[in-house]
Amino acid sequence: MSERRFAFNWELIGDIDVGRPNLGPTTRLEIYRLMQFTLRDVLEQHYGTEQANRLFYEAGRLAGVELYGRLFSHVTEFNDFVSKLQSALKDFGVAVLRVEQADLANGVFVLTMSEDLDCSGLPELEHEICAYDEGFLAGLLESFTGAPFTVKEIDCWCTGDRTCRFRAESRHE
Ligand SMILES: [Zn+2]
Repeated sequence: MSERRFAFNWELIGDIDVGRPNLGPTTRLEIYRLMQFTLRDVLEQHYGTEQANRLFYEAGRLAGVELYGRLFSHVTEFNDFVSKLQSALKDFGVAVLRVEQADLANGVFVLTMSEDLDCSGLPELEHEICAYDEGFLAGLLESFTGAPFTVKEIDCWCTGDRTCRFRAESRHE
């Protein structure tokens, strides 16, 4: 790639106070989902389901890393990190995050996200769909621990659960 136009940086988020004096910083969730699922449709058409999921995971991971750098880089204690992350995700209207299992020594975590931005309320499907969230949690955990993580969604609204549940494992590379 000779030239990057959209390497992520926070300038791309812009000055929302200046840019949207009347409409403000929020939008309707239908529009967020419209953007996400049309993008996913086009990526799947071009690259297939597996690669589209991989790209979503990677984008989510980048978001996790960037958000960590922006909001949590000064945090040192795991419990402090979790409570700040819970507050941020609630304030932004992303999800209600809970930690069901945290084995810091072995790098194994089970996390749930309820009322999730991406899938809560969707019809039931045969498969989990929250690849972006998988990557997002991986990026956050990798940033906090300094170790690479693999995150897999094991329950999803779309598989009949009322919450999305993720298993995160450090890869010990
Ligand atoms: Zn889900």
